[in-house]
Amino acid sequence: MQSTLRRSDNLTEIQREALATAASEAERTVQLLKDLLDLARADSGRMHFQFESLVLNDLVEEVAAMTRQYSDRPIQIESAREIICIKADINRLKQILLNLIDNAVKYSDNGHPIALKLDKQNNRGIIQVCDRGVGIPLSQQTRIFERFYRVDEARLRSGGTGLGLSIVKTLVEGMGGSISVRSQLSRGSTFTISFPLI
Ligand code: ATP
Ligand code: MG
Repeated sequence: MQSTLRRSDNLTEIQREALATAASEAERTVQLLKDLLDLARADSGRMHFQFESLVLNDLVEEVAAMTRQYSDRPIQIESAREIICIKADINRLKQILLNLIDNAVKYSDNGHPIALKLDKQNNRGIIQVCDRGVGIPLSQQTRIFERFYRVDEARLRSGGTGLGLSIVKTLVEGMGGSISVRSQLSRGSTFTISFPLI
């Protein structure tokens, strides 16, 4: 579908729109299947990680660059000067951060910056994804990590299935890390993930 869209110059505007919609729906379906497969694998204890030593300073830069490719939202990096190394699966860690950034963009207004902060504390490497968005009521801050749970479904028109954070949590914990959230309504949210340093 994408290549037909790119190569055909004899499509009408309506055909072009229909193809573009079909292509993006197909992409969404594939993503949903991947998410469900990840959760099914995790449930049966068949989640595999390819652990390697990672420099988090580089990874954070790379993820910010990836984000800039699909969104024009300002994304700031606040990184400690020292090198911070952990052992993790690089692709899974990117998936985790992209998911958290996707939420930060989705649940805050255009123009509001997203910050990626990197630090180390108590022998752990810490990454925070911070937004200045709608925030999450305290009573729901533990529930958002449940499968399919979405805060105030009616109010949030943005598409989504509510699987993102349950996968993020499964991946973080599967790699020996931990995740937490701090949030205030109308002020914003900060998701913190941490892993033991090597
Ligand atoms: P999906 O990630 O599957 O596309 P989703 O974003 O709705 O859908 P989750 O990422 O699991 O699902 O998030 C669950 C819910 O937690 C969201 O629907 C939203 O209500 C709330 N939430 C998550 N991140 C934020 C955030 N940064 N700010 C405000 N609310 C958030
Ligand atoms: Mg999400």
